[in-house]
Parts: sequence; C-alpha cells; structure tokens
Amino acid sequence: MEALKQKIIDEGKVLSNTVLKVDSFVNHQMDPILMKQIGEEFAERFKGMGITKVLTIESSGIGPALMTALEMGVPMIFARKRKSLTLTEGLITSTVRSFTKQETNEVTISRDFITEGDNVLIIDDFLAVGQAALGLIDIVKQAGANPVGVGIVIEKSFQDGHKTVKETGVKLESLAKIASLEGGKVQFVNEGDQQS
Ligand code: 5GP
Repeated sequence: MEALKQKIIDEGKVLSNTVLKVDSFVNHQMDPILMKQIGEEFAERFKGMGITKVLTIESSGIGPALMTALEMGVPMIFARKRKSLTLTEGLITSTVRSFTKQETNEVTISRDFITEGDNVLIIDDFLAVGQAALGLIDIVKQAGANPVGVGIVIEKSFQDGHKTVKETGVKLESLAKIASLEGGKVQFVNEGDQQS
C-alpha cells in the first residue's frame, strides 16, 4: 500500500534494528485519512470471506480495526489487556507476551461478542514475533468461532511473526512489509520477492 509506505518513509523513526516508531500516525497521534484507506484496503483484501466480526487488541489496533469494520459493515471488538471492573464474567482469556514492552498480559474478551459460527478477521498495527496474533487466534478458537484472516498494518518480515501466523493456516495480509531496519534505514520487502 503506497500511501502507507510513503508515510513510513516520511515520518517513521527507526529506534533500533528491530523497532520502528510510528507515533505520529498510528501509535499515539492517528491519521484518520490513512486509517480510512487502511480500512478500505483490508476490506478489499478479505472480501467474500463471510467475515462477521473484526477483532483487535487495545490500543493501537483499534483505529485500523474500526475503519475495517466500518467498511465491512460488521462490529469490531477489542481485546482488553487490563482487567475491567465491569467485565468480570463470561470471559475468554489468552496470554500474550508484548514484544515492545517485554511484559506478559492476560488478554480478555467477553463471550457475548464472539460466538460459535462467527468468522473473525483479526487486525493489528504491527507483526513482530506473532504473539499478539496467536493470542487473538486462540481467543477466537476458544469462542468456537473461525479465525479466517489476520490483517497487519506494518509487518517486520525479518522477524518470526510472518512464519508463525502462516503456520496456523490463517490467511495473512500485511499492508507494508519491512525487510530490514538496519543502519537506521527502512528497507521494504520487494513485492516481487517470494515469501513463504
Ligand atoms: P508481536 O506480538 O507480533 O511480537 O508484536 C506485535 C505487537 O507489538 C503489536 O501489537 C505492536 O503493538 C507491538 N510492536 C511490535 N513491534 C513493534 C514496532 O517495531 N513498533 C511499534 N510501534 N510497535 C511494535
């Protein structure tokens, strides 16, 4: 997705060989026009799959997930990382280790919102080692629903997440694929290259 790649080139900050900061349009300030385009792109890539719900994890996944859900005309659910005072019963929980924060969270959703027979599209801002995506796939399966797709805004293709998600058999679509962050430079995957 060219508009996203250009935004990464213009505003992304390489913090290390493994971490990209995109605080000005995804992770702190959000660019609504870009988010709308992202929603349209995901809706196009996952069309015809009978998706009934979009699932993400708080907080940075919410923007792209909501725009995708709006475009598809289905509800969006975000998994919570912290225990909620009002969300106490009928929970589905999975454990996710955060790549950037180096902490482990119990992520939860209410059983009320994803149920048997739902076809669920999982959306997240980044794919690193794949823990967040695996946790969300696990939650969908525990609900008796079908994880039919994983849509990622920025995939760091040099880390293991791509392979890990592919191994689950769930369709993976990433809008910007980064081959390397070495030397403080963002290098995108050449779209002509084969990726397993
Ligand atoms: P994973 O579970 O795939 O290892 O990591 C995905 C999660 O970690 C995403 O939800 C995202 O919030 C965060 N993350 C991973 N790598 C990066 C990165 O390079 N930059 C930012 N801003 N977040 C990242």
